[in-house]
Amino acid sequence: MLPSVVMKKASEEFLNWNNTGMSVMEMSHRGKEYMSIFRKTEQDLRKVFQVPNNYHILFLQGGAITQNFMVPMNLLDNGTASYVVSGYWSKRTYNDALAFQNINLAASSESEEYVSPPEFSDWNFSQNDSYVHFCQNETIHGVEYFNTPTIDVPLVVDMSSTILSRQVDISKYGVIYAGAQKNIGPSGLTILIVRDDLLERSRIDTPTTYNWKIQSENDSMINTPTTYSIYMAGLVFEWLMSCGGLSEVEKLNIKKSKLLYDYIDNSDFYYNEINNDYRSRMNVPFRIRDDELTMKFVEEAESAGLYQLKGHRLVGGLRASIYNAMPIEGIEELLNFMNDFEKNNK
Ligand SMILES: *Cc1c(COP(=O)(O)O)cnc(C)c1O
Repeated sequence: MLPSVVMKKASEEFLNWNNTGMSVMEMSHRGKEYMSIFRKTEQDLRKVFQVPNNYHILFLQGGAITQNFMVPMNLLDNGTASYVVSGYWSKRTYNDALAFQNINLAASSESEEYVSPPEFSDWNFSQNDSYVHFCQNETIHGVEYFNTPTIDVPLVVDMSSTILSRQVDISKYGVIYAGAQKNIGPSGLTILIVRDDLLERSRIDTPTTYNWKIQSENDSMINTPTTYSIYMAGLVFEWLMSCGGLSEVEKLNIKKSKLLYDYIDNSDFYYNEINNDYRSRMNVPFRIRDDELTMKFVEEAESAGLYQLKGHRLVGGLRASIYNAMPIEGIEELLNFMNDFEKNNK
């Protein structure tokens, strides 16, 4: 979901932004109108996410997956890199990185079917690591790290499904990246926050559009950026500030996810297997004890106006993705539906 106030503002401005007679979609990315949108979007993200001054914010393309090779191209140097695997996405990241030399698996929870991610104390680093990569929230498996390890090596994190769901201490990270389409705005935009000193490490054969340093020196405009997605992201940043910032957003996310997990835990009809300490606040996977009822649940939920509850095709079951813009009323409606479904199918 996107916040309805954001969608309303975008629709009101669609044909005529700020009395220019132009749609944002029609603007030159280097024109003064678009540049004013772009600068404000960057400043608002810096403000709402408390991004320190020694970090650059880049607005890139290719989604989070493209960072699977951009990260090694920009950071690997001649060293090694260690990867933590805690679910589908971080495994995919690790597998993509294997195309490069000296990639090390620091820890994996695959053999436990990802019900609990590897604890920080079990991460095995290499001597020469240029960086360590992990995923803050496994969107498909519903497993989230709530703390950040303190390590000397630059920490690179995929925050695609948790960015802006709560404040993090950005200074503990070397690089934060996220596809915008889960918790920010429309697809097409990848946000990358990188500590300035790490911009000096890119391999010489890194193409310009993939080169963080070159992008940072060119306002992320070494080629045309995703102008409209950036504009929409800017409206979402304004909305987050109007909600009272990330501390308020986090409180609501805790409340929303707790409602759902408490209901599931108190039920003998539904269940969730993830270790309590690592249950995602953004993606709540659950199953019906009688697995045969899963498709019926999905169909009847859709008839009731509750969409996208089917679990990812790789893991089956059900999943409620309850990103920032999902109001608490949405959770309450889901719980009412789950309650009725249980009564009718017990
Ligand atoms: C969705 C998702 C991805 C994939 O992102 P794309 O933008 O489609 O490349 C990667 N990592 C996580 C954690 C995700 O949730």
